[in-house]
Amino acid sequence: LSSEKYNVKRKSFGIIEASDVDYFKTVLSEDRVLTDDNDVLPFNIDWIKNCRGQSKLVLKPKTTQEVSTILKYCNQKRLAVCPQGGNTGLVGGSVPVFDEIVLSFILMNKIISLDEISGALICEAGCILENLDNYVREHNLIMPLDLGAKGSCHIGGNISTNAGGLRLLRYGNLHGSVLGVEAVKADGTVIDCLKSLKKDNTGYHLKHLFIGSEGTLGLVTKVAIHCPALPKAVSVGFFGVENFENILRLYASAKSSLGEILSAFEMADNDSISSTVKNLKIPNPISDYPFYVLLETHGSDETHDSEKLTRFLEKEMESGLIIDGTVTSDPAKMQTIWNLRENIAGAGLIEGYIFKYDVSLPLRSYYNLVPLLRQRLGTKASRVYGYGHVGDGNIHINVVVPKYSQEASSLLEPYIFEEVSKLKGSISAEHGVGFRKPHFIHYSKDANALQLMQQLKQLMDPNGILNPYKVLPEI
Ligand code: FAD
Repeated sequence: LSSEKYNVKRKSFGIIEASDVDYFKTVLSEDRVLTDDNDVLPFNIDWIKNCRGQSKLVLKPKTTQEVSTILKYCNQKRLAVCPQGGNTGLVGGSVPVFDEIVLSFILMNKIISLDEISGALICEAGCILENLDNYVREHNLIMPLDLGAKGSCHIGGNISTNAGGLRLLRYGNLHGSVLGVEAVKADGTVIDCLKSLKKDNTGYHLKHLFIGSEGTLGLVTKVAIHCPALPKAVSVGFFGVENFENILRLYASAKSSLGEILSAFEMADNDSISSTVKNLKIPNPISDYPFYVLLETHGSDETHDSEKLTRFLEKEMESGLIIDGTVTSDPAKMQTIWNLRENIAGAGLIEGYIFKYDVSLPLRSYYNLVPLLRQRLGTKASRVYGYGHVGDGNIHINVVVPKYSQEASSLLEPYIFEEVSKLKGSISAEHGVGFRKPHFIHYSKDANALQLMQQLKQLMDPNGILNPYKVLPEI
């Protein structure tokens, strides 16, 4: 249980009684109120199987009005609520800690409208990212974000975590592409900021409060998001590189040679790729190298783009920055290469327990922590590897141990966060703070900023019922 593993005490929230369950059955149909242990169990366990809650009740609203009615009641009775989207979050934010009611967005999955000219998509929060992408592609658009969890994660979860992903380099983050949100406050008030305008400077930009607040300030029920045009030409390059210094040189060269068509620049070290190849049997199209780069272009002219990419490959093979590489525009081959990259996050789970870190660092120090941790853990770790979004300064560092141990945990934390702080990085680049990191947040946020966060929480959720034990440190 998370509460025992991390030594957290239950706050004095109300305890769910049979009369509460009966009330929820009058708001939702009976089949949308889950109380059977077997039905509730999956909602209690996170994707990485690190956190486990003790909820006895899952509610599945279908409308904003139902969310509002549920929250109004919970607020009055001081019943704590844990909002859950696709439950792919990696910091334990999406699962309860004690007996919080899980409010699942799984049935709020309707697409409301798409303006093909402006690219504005309006949909409910529980739409799965991949379904949205498939839908907008039929209209010559793409979703502005893409991540390995796209087949399960919800757009509402993406917004609540301010998810970054694989193409942030090109399409920017959600603070730019989200046009509007509809959200429900803890007391049930519906805040309608669901504009689909690109420009709207009428006062405070309230939508930003809900982007990245991980369900602690309000529940996102609807979303308006800008979808860029479907690129006519897509190419992927996969390169073997001798050392990390050369990856940085290659990145600088890619920006100047490929310019506006560069849509992703991802790196992975040898341990990352060999874990995917070994554990998931996904083939590596080139041989074994110390480092790899996956580069993607999105453009409008296939001949022009692939010429540019091939020229880049030839130039950098000659310079020695690329030892070996392959470039392709074949959809199946591109998918295999992306599979190799996107499955790194899950591949290590087969080998044991993973301590996952998601940090931002200045590019020159981007890879520094991986060798440091290898040295620190020694034989206690079966694999320490780094991969991530070089273009955004965001590295994912995974430490695999045969079995969770307090000893390994104490060697890693707070050490890694202290090092990140010394290097002036962020202890959470894109996964959020969730349940796992509130007590480390001070390594990246100053005391006055933390105080303002507490004040905002107090203003928007005075009873603290929304996703307690998450994001904010105990005061
Ligand atoms: P959940 O996991 O269900 O919830 C995440 C948080 O948001 C929780 O705090 C939850 O309470 C809250 N929440 C969910 N829905 C709502 C709502 N409607 N209103 C209010 N609060 C809500 N993340 C990245 O940023 N970039 C990546 O490249 C990336 N790659 C990943 C790859 C894999 C294989 C996996 C498993 C995860 C990856 N993640 C990545 C992490 C995760 O997928 C994202 O954080 C994602 O945005 C979570 O969406 P979700 O719907 O699963 O949310």
